[in-house]
Order: sequence, then C-alpha cells, then structure tokens
Amino acid sequence: MTKIIDGKAISQKIKDELKEEVARKKGEGKEACLAVIQVGKYPASTVYVGNKKKACAYIGIDSQSYELPEETSQDELLSLIDKLNDDPKVTGILVQLPVPGHIDEDTIIKRISPLKDVDGFHPMSVGALCIGEKGFVSCTPAGVIKLLKYSDIEIAGKECVVIGRSNIVGKPMSLLLLRENGTVTVCHSKTKNLKEVCKRADILVVAIGRPKMINEEYIKDGAVVIDVGIHRMENGKLCGDVDYESVAPKCSAITPVPGGVGPMTIAMLMYNVVSAM
Ligand code: NDP
Repeated sequence: MTKIIDGKAISQKIKDELKEEVARKKGEGKEACLAVIQVGKYPASTVYVGNKKKACAYIGIDSQSYELPEETSQDELLSLIDKLNDDPKVTGILVQLPVPGHIDEDTIIKRISPLKDVDGFHPMSVGALCIGEKGFVSCTPAGVIKLLKYSDIEIAGKECVVIGRSNIVGKPMSLLLLRENGTVTVCHSKTKNLKEVCKRADILVVAIGRPKMINEEYIKDGAVVIDVGIHRMENGKLCGDVDYESVAPKCSAITPVPGGVGPMTIAMLMYNVVSAM
C-alpha cells in the first residue's frame, strides 16, 4: 500500500513544537521578529506573505510587514535592508521573491545579513551548508528532509535522485541528502537518459517546474517520490511536477499536491526564525 505523506499534518506538528519552543525562549527573555518585505503586488506573493505573517502570529512571534510600491528603486530597497540589518529587534529578514525586473535579485539577497537570512539564500548560508557548518537552510529542501524523517524514511545509503538544480531547491536539496548520507545524483535539462537515471532512485525528489512531467515510466517499484512542483491547472486545481495518478500505485510513499511539500516551506521558515532567537 502506498503511504501518502501528509505535509499538512507534519507542518502543523512542527509549528506546534515551535510554539512551545518560542514560549520557552521568551521565558528566558529572548525575542524574535520577522521583517517581511514585498515589492509590487504579485497576487501569489501577497498570499505567501499573508501566510507567513499568520504563521508568525500562530507560533507567537512578532512580524513587521513592508509593502513597497512596484516603482521602488533598488537603492531604496537596499536602504531598508540596511536599516533592518542594524535593528537589534529584527531577528529575521525576508524579501518576497520575485522582485520587479528593475531590481537585481542577487544584489538584494547578498545585502541581507547572513545572521538574519532566514530564507537561507545568502551565499554565506549556502556555503555553510556546502561545507557542513551551521547556518540557515533554504526552507523548501529543508522541509523535504523533515517530511522524510517524520515519515521514518531512511536516507542513509539510499540512491537519491534530485531532478532540478536551482539555487533555492535542487542544489540545496542535493547537499542536504548528501549530509544525510544518501548517494546523490542531480539531474537537469541536459541530463541524458533521465528515465533510466530516475529509475535507479530509492528516493526521487522532483523540482523541475513542469506540470505532471514525471510519470510511472520514471519510477522504480517501491520508490519514495517527493513532488516539489506546484502549478495551477486550467480547471483551477493544483498539480505537481509528478503525474500523481500514474506514479502513486508504484511507490512505497509519495507526497500529494497540494498538501505535501508546500505547507512545509512555511513551517521551515518558522523553524529558521525560531532558531535565530
Ligand atoms: P527552476 O525553474 O528554477 O529550476 C528547474 C530545474 O529543473 C532546472 O535546474 C532545470 O534544468 C530543470 N529542468 C527543467 N526542465 C527539465 C527537463 N525537461 N528535464 C530535466 N530537468 C529539467 O525551478 P525551482 O527550482 O524554483 O522550482 C521547481 C518547482 O518547484 C516549480 O514547480 C516551483 O513552482 C516549485 N516550488 C515549490 C515550492 C514549494 O514551497 N512547494 C517552493 C519553490 C519552488 P537547467 O538547470 O538545466 O535549466
């Protein structure tokens, strides 16, 4: 029987654990405050920012929200980041991506103090992950590791295949699986024989950004399949990068979309914010 990995339930459990930890840390006189910056009005970003603020309120930490107009200049955004970097009350800073085209994303990411980089995108955070030092880890891949752990799925010694090599998902995902002693292969758009490579996987993590591309032909019997993708279909429903209907019967465990990896991203953001307290 295929186990459906319930990201909603696991993320709730994590948030409840964090709520207790926040109460304990507050008792020791520690405080946390997440500053969330949004530039422009992408509807999806507004939803994400709202959910992040709600999650902060749930676990008992302060949040500050900066909603800047679309025409905000890069220098204005950098000055706000500098101000928040210097504010001892603010323990985490997050700029909701994407930012408008006239602002360079990399410059923004690099300006956030690595001590407050709760998204884990700063090169220092990525470098720390790479050499096995302590630092903030990108929330979505960190959430995938938590999903596997909470589901009692062993990673050590397993053939792990990651499809996708983006800086925010694929690359940190592969490093985290390696840190957990998986044997890791990373695939991308130039990979030859993608199906054959995927069929070797005991654990297959799919982050390609292509709706339902991965069907049962890519799956080894009994594999664990983690679907990071999220897309809205024409009928308004959500789907992932995995063709769930054909893949699920072949797996030992699989994440659904919605309700799999998605809810973990915010839970892990909260985890990072609390760890900065
Ligand atoms: P990117 O578009 O940045 O990266 C996609 C990766 O997939 C690239 O490395 C690309 O290869 C590779 N790829 C594309 N097409 C193919 C193909 N045909 N065969 C093999 N590899 C291919 O996406 P992200 O990493 O940002 O996101 C991936 C998915 O995860 C998206 O659906 C996104 O919406 C979702 N997502 C979900 C989150 C959540 O909270 N659930 C959070 C973040 C993302 P190459 O490098 O060669 O171009």
